[in-house]
Amino acid sequence: MRRPMVAGNWKMHGTRASVAELIEGLGKQVLPSDVDIVVMPPSLFINQVVVGLEGQAVAVGAQDAAIQAGQGALTGEIASTQLLDAGCSFVLVGHSERRQLIGEQDEVLNRKFAAIQESGLTPVLCIGETLEQREAGQTLAVVGQQLDSIIDAFGIDAFANAVIAYEPVWAIGTGLTASPQQAQEVHAAIRAQLAEKNAEVAQGVRLLYGGSVKSANAVELFGMPDIDGGLIGGASLNADEFGAICRAAGN
Ligand code: PEP
Repeated sequence: MRRPMVAGNWKMHGTRASVAELIEGLGKQVLPSDVDIVVMPPSLFINQVVVGLEGQAVAVGAQDAAIQAGQGALTGEIASTQLLDAGCSFVLVGHSERRQLIGEQDEVLNRKFAAIQESGLTPVLCIGETLEQREAGQTLAVVGQQLDSIIDAFGIDAFANAVIAYEPVWAIGTGLTASPQQAQEVHAAIRAQLAEKNAEVAQGVRLLYGGSVKSANAVELFGMPDIDGGLIGGASLNADEFGAICRAAGN
């Protein structure tokens, strides 16, 4: 039985004051005990969030990590061992905003994925197709290739300690959501692709859906057999809304 997970990606939002408000709001939520809940603030606020959420069953994650696990001469970057030291447990890798706007490609993403695991953190690998690719019928091929990039480099066991987030690019921050059936189709294909290499790893890995999830559509999405929770962007900036989404993932 896979334990559901809901992760809030705060992206590049927040000030010390608004983060303090969000922490306070999260503290007032009744959160389900059968769901792993994670918030991923901008790195600048990780310490504030770790301290502010102390004693609550909410883990902290980062949105990015450097291409090497350990500290070194790499201006502007943050090593995953530093994120671990700061109190993080998870790190996003391959978010479409970084693939598209920063230009991160497979080679860099593979190095980040490996560095995150090497440091003892869990990578949350984001994969997904653009609208053009969906309309051209390429969804499963695109997502399959993004997955294969990691499998080819590190083998299937890399997914024994990783989370996968399927995030159709056309649904991120647009208000458009994949229907539960559309999302389930892709999630099932991801799990089947992993199962070809190792059925146990495929059954154990958590597959999150991301793309304009809100409390109004979360129950239906999370009710699909291969959707194990969500990666939440915009809605995670509102504590009440995020709390409601977390409850929707509970049993
Ligand atoms: C995201 O950034 O990962 C995301 C899913 O964003 P949103 O929920 O705002 O679509």
